[in-house]
Amino acid sequence: MSSQPAPVIGIDLGTTFSVVASLERSGLPQTILNAEGDLSTPSAVYFEQDQVVVGKEALKAAVYEPESVLQHVKREMGKPFCDKPIRGTRLPPEVVQAAILRKLRQDAENRLGNVQDAVITVPAFFNEPRRKATMDAGRLAGLKVLDIINEPTAAAIAYGVQAGFVSASGEAKQAEKILAYDLGGGTFDVTLMLLEGCQYTAVATDGDVQLGGIDWDRRIVDFVAEHYLEQHGTDPRQDPVSFQMLLQEAEDAKRALSNRTSVTVRFAHQSKRVQVALTREEFEALTSDLLQRTMFTVERLLRTARLRFDDLTRLLLVGGSTRMPMVQQILEQASGKSVDRSLSPDEAVAHGAALYAGFLQRGSRAADRSLVVKNVNSHDLGVLGIEKATGMKRRRIMIPRNTKLPARSKSSFVTRRANQRSVAVHVVEGGDDSGKNATPIGKCLVSDLPAKLPAKTQVVV
Ligand code: AMP
Repeated sequence: MSSQPAPVIGIDLGTTFSVVASLERSGLPQTILNAEGDLSTPSAVYFEQDQVVVGKEALKAAVYEPESVLQHVKREMGKPFCDKPIRGTRLPPEVVQAAILRKLRQDAENRLGNVQDAVITVPAFFNEPRRKATMDAGRLAGLKVLDIINEPTAAAIAYGVQAGFVSASGEAKQAEKILAYDLGGGTFDVTLMLLEGCQYTAVATDGDVQLGGIDWDRRIVDFVAEHYLEQHGTDPRQDPVSFQMLLQEAEDAKRALSNRTSVTVRFAHQSKRVQVALTREEFEALTSDLLQRTMFTVERLLRTARLRFDDLTRLLLVGGSTRMPMVQQILEQASGKSVDRSLSPDEAVAHGAALYAGFLQRGSRAADRSLVVKNVNSHDLGVLGIEKATGMKRRRIMIPRNTKLPARSKSSFVTRRANQRSVAVHVVEGGDDSGKNATPIGKCLVSDLPAKLPAKTQVVV
């Protein structure tokens, strides 16, 4: 008799909320309730004097003690330190994310016993440093990270298995061309994927790491704050506690407007109150530029992939913010297709990650049936050099964005001096031709050049 495999979990480490899922005996994914009894855990971390508290309680503490709470740290992944200090110390973002992962792991262990193996998801548009920071956060939380996969790929797996267009072992029944539109709390990304048999290939991806539900919330904050200012002469946004309370009211109002056509936002600051009516139509007008920004990205992606909406077989909605009716409307209007929203958009990613973790675990035991996930690089990869003519920094792209991975590329450089014994190659991701805004990935030193080479000898890297 075969022994029960060790439990595996899939984690959607979101900007505003995180979700953890496991596989039932039947092989289907299920969301694990956290210790508070909720399906998702706010990605907020409260640094109390002698302990670290994650989730709902941290979110509440953010109202009264904003200086001790970190939120939306996913947006800072890849930076050495978070912008906001906690008691004078700026923490590395991966340390903060690790606290969230530890809580999710603990919640999973309450149900499943000891858990180590996990798949964590990241936006497709995350660059290498942000991915690596996510891996590090997993390790810091004591997890064995089986893999990091892109959120849209995870969603496609979940939709595929649950809507039946892929089999229980993850094999697509017919070729599918899928566009996944993922609008979460803090990030937006859109990915084109091909599913053929067991191969999941991301063909192209695009996105905006600074656009998400929180930006819709802030429009409501501004709307209410302007009313308050007009009536009472002070701006509640200036006070961190009031700002945080207003942000919470705004999010509640936004969620309500997904089900109702109007709401009343009530808010008090310095013992003075305002009541502001907001209709769905007004809310859509206040935020139409944000929605348009997502559509520009979708259209740019289709152009890059040389596809039209007609070529797609499915449109998937992922991320809690796609519950806003305006998202489905604009996509259906633009594409002339109906979108697939058979799964709960905030659980799809964690479910797909759990399914993928299960495939990986089975794959390691039965190598014949494993799922292949192929990716593209989401940013240009290049090298920085000095242009001879101008003496200025110059970036040379070696692997353009949206190239299928793994990829190889060769480029030749010339030595600057006679008898130069080494060449340093600075590898960067993204940025422009002058190397501005590029993220350093690493430095590779070619150090064993033969002696006495003349200047301008070609070195192929
Ligand atoms: P995610 O990162 O996918 O969990 O998405 C979280 C975002 O979804 C947050 O900005 C939430 O405010 C937003 N969200 C969740 N439910 C709704 C809803 N019913 N209507 C509008 N936005 C929602």
